[in-house]
Amino acid sequence: MNVKVFVDFDGTISLNDVGDKLFAHFGDVSDIVSDLMKGKISVAEYYTQCCARISNSLSPELLVAFNAEQQIDYAFKDIIALCKSHNIDVHIVSDGLDAYIQPILQTGGISDVPIHSNLLSQVGDEWIPEFPGATESCNCFCASCKRNVIVNHSADEDVIVYVGDGMSDTCAVQHADVVFAKGYLSKWCSENGIPHHPITNLSQVLAIMKSRIAKSDFKQRRRALIARQSAFIAE
Ligand SMILES: [Mg+2]
Ligand SMILES: [Zn+2]
Repeated sequence: MNVKVFVDFDGTISLNDVGDKLFAHFGDVSDIVSDLMKGKISVAEYYTQCCARISNSLSPELLVAFNAEQQIDYAFKDIIALCKSHNIDVHIVSDGLDAYIQPILQTGGISDVPIHSNLLSQVGDEWIPEFPGATESCNCFCASCKRNVIVNHSADEDVIVYVGDGMSDTCAVQHADVVFAKGYLSKWCSENGIPHHPITNLSQVLAIMKSRIAKSDFKQRRRALIARQSAFIAE
């Protein structure tokens, strides 16, 4: 049994959606959000436009201060420790930006978990996002495809555990065997026939993982395995 755990960042590890907060804090991006929701622009275009919009008001110093105010669910640290003691790999999969994910985790004392996300850097006076995880073969609502991280970091016999809360997780959960879903994602899973543990915080994930590990209760979900295999071929 080889279990791999993939965890969303915004609203799952962090208590709030930090990306949304960042843009709302440093600019008025409501028209860009509305274009995204209407399907007029892609998630990557949304990020590019939002970053351009806040370029004048966001400085590296203000970003540091903003990051320092964000809070995480501290049970994530216990999940990492539990997984480590059982040789279970943990990955963070995010459609957010490294410029806040990394510092927030570091403040929380978490530094040794691979992060797969979009990137944000300042070039001259402009904040420019980059999308190393973008793909054309998946029609997920993401700039950084979470499905591909799962497929690229797992073998055929692995059991995939996924923890998430939002729209950017809907593609990933179809490729996962054990799903923990918070908020919007839990409703979406129910409506779309994805078996899942409905959760409101990571302490619940920790408790269920402990009990599943004790019972070696990790099985592949046939539909998820087939989905992973077809995604692997498509890539
Ligand atoms: Mg999220
Ligand atoms: Zn995808």
